[in-house]
Formats: sequence, structure tokens, C-alpha cells
Amino acid sequence: MTKKFPFLMIPGPVQVREENLKVMATPVIGHRTKMMADLFLETASLMQQLLFTENQIFFIPGSASAFMEAAIINLVKKSVLNVVNGAFGERWHQMAKNWNKEADKLEVTWGHAVDPQVLREKLEEKEYEAVTITHNETSTGVTTPLEKLAPIFSDFDTLVLVDAVSSAGGIPLKMDDWGIDMVIFGTQKCLALPPGLGIAAVSERALEKARKIPYKGWFLNFELLEKYAKKGYNPATPSVSHMFALNHQLKYIIKKEGITERFIRHETLGKQTREWAKKYFDLFAQEEVASNTVTTIKNTKDLDLDSVKKDLLERGYLFATGYGPLSKTTFRIGHMGDLTEEQLKTYLATLEKVMNL
Ligand SMILES: *Cc1c(COP(=O)(O)O)cnc(C)c1O
Repeated sequence: MTKKFPFLMIPGPVQVREENLKVMATPVIGHRTKMMADLFLETASLMQQLLFTENQIFFIPGSASAFMEAAIINLVKKSVLNVVNGAFGERWHQMAKNWNKEADKLEVTWGHAVDPQVLREKLEEKEYEAVTITHNETSTGVTTPLEKLAPIFSDFDTLVLVDAVSSAGGIPLKMDDWGIDMVIFGTQKCLALPPGLGIAAVSERALEKARKIPYKGWFLNFELLEKYAKKGYNPATPSVSHMFALNHQLKYIIKKEGITERFIRHETLGKQTREWAKKYFDLFAQEEVASNTVTTIKNTKDLDLDSVKKDLLERGYLFATGYGPLSKTTFRIGHMGDLTEEQLKTYLATLEKVMNL
């Protein structure tokens, strides 16, 4: 029996707990009220705790891609280096090119993370205003160990911009300790909320840079966003419902589950999935950089993934094939957000049945 609303095992958007769906239905409040400002400022301060930062937090209605584009508009006048080890790194490179920037690509074999020495040499070769890096490549299932790159970041003036869309809130990300200038994500991945809100943390150094960029539009303009955010507002109308849900979920993460415990749970889910994947198939990612939020699995048995997807839908699950060029040769298991070990186990057992393993 096909379920109208299958359980989401895709790497975003992920399954939202009933409790958070209910919070999304909180009555709408005026966006220029004290209640709104209090909600915004408290949520921003909780967000700082999650990212281990004291930097400015921005929220905008839209998806994470809006902030990826905003980073290019506000922080790059001319030159940017895009580290590309998968489809999302490539997206950021395309954005930079579409904005007519001098965008150089540091191409890394898919399934690998950038070699720190190679990155260092690239930054020594040419002076870049900014470097973009994907913390967790959702297409390949690779986590780039940013803590190992931190010593490089501190040796250059280059702004460090990080796509943390499928890592923030699931994998440790110490923005201030690691010298990151911008962290970008959304509500629909590790935070396990409905899609529709973009989130960013921006360093003072980056905000200063933005002040020197003359043309940066209006909706994604950091100067304007900062002016309003300091008071707890957005220049335009914020997604009030998302702000209520985000506030609620951050309190749950910080006070109920615990940030460290959340990271440990993701580690366990990652290990569980990798063990399963190695037993029946193969990992697409190099194991030492394999992600704890999403696993990309080589389709070594040459299964018809569309038919697998159909069978799983009948059992109440939404299955993820590979991303873009990897759509037939790999499939993915999203294990981020509020997913429990029990839920993952049940899913893996269902996969075994459907795939005749
Ligand atoms: C999902 C994802 C994006 C795109 O995010 P949207 O919210 O859909 O704009 C970008 N980068 C990575 C790594 C992602 O996983």
C-alpha cells in the first residue's frame, strides 16, 4: 500500500517530528513586534551555541542556495577559489561564474576530500578574496575534515566560506576555532525541520568586506541584513512559522538531546550504515572521510534503482538514488536529523528484503 506521506530516508528534506510540525502551526505574529524581535534574537543566540561561534547570525526565507549566492555577491569582488569534490561544490562554482567572477576551480576526485597540501599550494599561487568549501558533500557522502584545514586558513587573508548544508547540527563544526568566515545551511537537513529557511553565520571580517562591495542588491545584502538582524528583524517579511519551529528545535537539541550527544548519535548512524553498505555493496567515498549524515553506496549489484524506489514507496519509504551523474551507479541513505538507531535498523532490514540481499 503506497503511503501518501512516506518516511523520508533521502538526504534532505528529512523526516520532521510531529511535535515540530505542530509548532509550525503556531499563530502568525506581526513581523515588526517585540515578540518577533525576542524570538529572532533568542533563536540567533541558540544558533551561535550550535555553531560554536559569536558571529552574526542571519535567517532568510528561502533555501540554503540563497545564502551560497549571497556569499558570492557580498564577499567576492573579483576572485574566488571553488573547491569542488561533488555536485554541490560545482553548484557554488557555477554561481560564481554566473555572477561574472574570476572563479577558479580546485577539482578534487569525487569521493575524496581536498588534500590540505594541494589547497595550501593553490592559495600560495594566487591571492584569492575567498575560498568556497563544501563541508559535507551530499552527492558523494564525503565530509571534508575542516579542522585539518584550519592551520591553512589562518595563514592566508582569504575569506573561508563553508557550505554546511548537510553537516551543521549533525557533525561538529567549530566556526570560530577553525577560522571560518561564513557557514551556510538550511532547516531541512540536520535540523530536521520543514524546508524554507536559509541560515548563515558571518564573521566580522566578512561583514567588513561586504561593506566595501558597492553593488550587492537588496534582498541578500549583508549590510541591510545586519542592520535589521542586530535588532531582531529582517529587512523583508521573515518566515515567522519557521522561526517558531527553529527556536523550539534548537532548545530541544541543546537542552534535551545535548549537542555532543547529537553528534555522537550521527556517528553511530554513520557507522551502522557503513557496516551495512560494506556487507552488501561498497562505499563510494573513501572510508576515512565518509560522512556521518549521508552514505553514498556503489550499486555493485547493478540493481534497477527505479524499481527499488517503487517497492520502497509501497512499504512507506522515500528512497534516494544517486545524485546527478551518479544517479544510476550509486544510491544514498540519508541518516541525519532526528533519525533514531531503531528507525535506521528497520529501514536497512526493509532494504534487504526489497533488494533480495
Ligand atoms: C541540500 C544541499 C544544498 C542545497 O540546499 P538548498 O536548501 O536546497 O538550497 C547545498 N549544498 C549541500 C551540501 C546540500 O546538501
